[in-house]
Amino acid sequence: MTDVLHILKVALDVPLDRVFDYKTDHPNTQIGQYVVVPFGARKMIGVVVGISDTTAIESNKLKSIIRLDPEVIFDEQSFKLFQFCSQYYHYPLGQTILSAVPSRLKKLNTKAMAKKYLYRLTPKAIELGVDTLPPRQTILKRIVMSLIDATELDEASLRSISSTWKKSIETLGEMGWIEKNEVALDDKVYTQAPIPSLNDEQKKVFDEITKTNQAFAAWLLYGITGSGKTEVYIRLIEEALKKEHAQVLVLVPEINLTPQLESRFRSRFENYTLVTLHSHLTDNERLTHWRLAKEGTAQIIIGTRLSVFTPMPHLSLIIIDEEHDASFKQQEGLRYHARDVAIFRAKSENIPIVMGTATPSLESWFNATKTKDAKKFGFLTLTSRAVEDSTLPEIKCIDISKSTVTKGFSPYLIDAIRDRLNKKEQSLIFINRRGFAPVLLCASCQWTGRCNRCSSRLVVHLNQKRLRCHHCGHDEKMPLQCPSCGNTDLYPTGLGTQRVEETLKEFFPEARILRVDRDSTKTKEALNDLFLKMKSREIDILIGTQMLSKGHDFPHLSLVGVLDTDQALYSPDFRASERLFSQLMQVSGRAGRAQIEGEVYIQTAFPNHPIFEALKTHDYEHFANELLKEREFAELSPFAFLVLLKAEAHQLTHVMQFLNEAMTKAQNLSTHVTVYNPVRPIMERLKGMERAQLVLQSNSRVALQKLLDDWVSYLRESRLGQKVKWVVDVDPLEF
Ligand code: ADP
Ligand code: ZN
Ligand code: ZN
Repeated sequence: MTDVLHILKVALDVPLDRVFDYKTDHPNTQIGQYVVVPFGARKMIGVVVGISDTTAIESNKLKSIIRLDPEVIFDEQSFKLFQFCSQYYHYPLGQTILSAVPSRLKKLNTKAMAKKYLYRLTPKAIELGVDTLPPRQTILKRIVMSLIDATELDEASLRSISSTWKKSIETLGEMGWIEKNEVALDDKVYTQAPIPSLNDEQKKVFDEITKTNQAFAAWLLYGITGSGKTEVYIRLIEEALKKEHAQVLVLVPEINLTPQLESRFRSRFENYTLVTLHSHLTDNERLTHWRLAKEGTAQIIIGTRLSVFTPMPHLSLIIIDEEHDASFKQQEGLRYHARDVAIFRAKSENIPIVMGTATPSLESWFNATKTKDAKKFGFLTLTSRAVEDSTLPEIKCIDISKSTVTKGFSPYLIDAIRDRLNKKEQSLIFINRRGFAPVLLCASCQWTGRCNRCSSRLVVHLNQKRLRCHHCGHDEKMPLQCPSCGNTDLYPTGLGTQRVEETLKEFFPEARILRVDRDSTKTKEALNDLFLKMKSREIDILIGTQMLSKGHDFPHLSLVGVLDTDQALYSPDFRASERLFSQLMQVSGRAGRAQIEGEVYIQTAFPNHPIFEALKTHDYEHFANELLKEREFAELSPFAFLVLLKAEAHQLTHVMQFLNEAMTKAQNLSTHVTVYNPVRPIMERLKGMERAQLVLQSNSRVALQKLLDDWVSYLRESRLGQKVKWVVDVDPLEF
């Protein structure tokens, strides 16, 4: 009956770089709406990316859509962003779009949203105080303490305190301690911390950035920890939100998105709607927050890397905190770097972007300080700590080649910890986890436990007496005898957090010690608990890995001890020293943030290594410039652009055949790109798969991209490529 058929171009979550045609008789379909369509024998969610009245498909083969959802899930700006990412990272458009959409939407039937509430204490609760709660009610206490801290918490934050938060909130409600409000009401009341007036440096930074009058400009804000970067962000956001309807996006590393940070922002923006987007939200919460952003209702969005794709109709400013953080790079699927995508987005929407950090990535450092012709980034600095009387910690290296080390500890470090215990101050013992897990070693034949499926060593878990592979999860009993020579003298090498804990317990039996690593703090809940315990001084010594190195203030912490980091000094990964430096700088920043003075002890056999010289003088600049010279000499990033092709299969010959074909093809495609031979990565075998990879390198991004256009389509068609799993990683961070 209808002669006007609309052909919808639909992007689907399938690994094919094309869109699919479907017909509909729906007259008002819009780009960005999502649809359910038949695909083979399945039903799939797709997104309309084009509407046409013609198709190359024969009419009897053209299928109809099954359902059209009224919600438009992205606008033109987001579409531009998806197209850019799809092209730049050479990832199919459909998969690009669908990886950026909240997963709740992708379930075939979305239900109406439940109402959201914010909880806070009643005046009665504040008057009575946490001490009047029954002594055993630890969860109640924790919730009340967190509410005192944050003034107001939403369900996600409460869940991060305890999984049984609902029951506790009910109890507190019955006691008359809690009141709740619907989210997005504008009558919230916060206990306002005094707002500092900006110091001269901060003012200068603020003025520089606001001078650009809200047009595109990219700024690197290089400021030491505690120099007041966050305060500057807050002022910039206030300024941006003076414009009617304006929205601001704040990107932070997952680990930094704490209730503390959230409440700091909430208390300063009490008249605005602020939402968070991160992986600890439920799918429903995520969808609600995302919709508030997309509809323009939420003015401030604080989120982790994926939120860079959130549609925001009135986006006026982007802030990236800790721009150097490796978690901004997605390591699977669409391998984007949120910082780079954010810069593209800022440019395309003609708005400013501010990237703050104490240890810029070398790429950003280069863009802000080195390029001779028009600098890519504006360069701004904050050189001193914002709080008066708080100074940077003193950093000392302990030469372990010259001192007797007992189970990983030099006497100097032990004395320093004892001194802190006497003064009732806290210590943090930091272990660089990468490569430092203990492995089992045979004293007579040098046998070590290895994983059969991965080319990695098995890690000793002393408490459970088991050996585990940290890559594939393989788990076995710790042998009592060497499987190779029968010797019973097997001992764990290297320093794992568990061993360090045992050693410290021997040295300081009276101390309250807490060990934090991925095994002991899987949940945000546990991590949050830890911060409260540190704050209330229930812990004397904290042992931890890089997850502790940033984001949190421990006011009673005055000593940081860094155990063995020397492997990272001589790692084959060219970014290892950059990472080590920023990690040590961050972890040093944990000491002495409040009024007590901080000290950092680094145990190393190479105390004269330039990295430590730079750390001692807190001289990132000198260190970065030296590293840049090395990179220039070696023709590495940021002086060259890199692409990694990774392949794996059960049989190595398949991998090598494919990579050799890929290499030859790439060599034929361009003379401006260097194509390296396929090599095995450090982890040659993973989960039973043989792996190899090859690197492309060029000093011209354009030439490299041009090659990739042809090369990736060629690889997608390759018959050898069907036998292996392969991915292309543009601007890889890890090799
Ligand atoms: P960063 O983000 O650089 O680590 P913050 O913005 O968190 O620094 O500031 C560190 C501390 O200094 C915070 O407690 C903050 O409230 C305080 N602060 C920031 N700016 C000022 C200022 N201008 N005057 C006084 N205190 C300040
Ligand atoms: Zn042996
Ligand atoms: Zn394994």
